[in-house]
Amino acid sequence: MPFYEYRCAECGHEFEVMQKMNDASLRNCPECGKPELDKLISVAGFQLKGGSCSRPTDDVPACGAGGACPACE
Ligand SMILES: [Zn+2]
Repeated sequence: MPFYEYRCAECGHEFEVMQKMNDASLRNCPECGKPELDKLISVAGFQLKGGSCSRPTDDVPACGAGGACPACE
């Protein structure tokens, strides 16, 4: 289950939460209660995906380099 990172635009509170892919994004900040949460890129999920890539080629950049890696799709 991937982690998602959120930051509150109102008070700056940052936190991570474990959610299913289909779960709705959080809106309300647990600190100040304002619906100002922005979803950030999941760092944990990003590293997990990159680490699973074992077959980068010359034509296709490795995962995390901005391209689609067929080894990870
Ligand atoms: Zn807040």
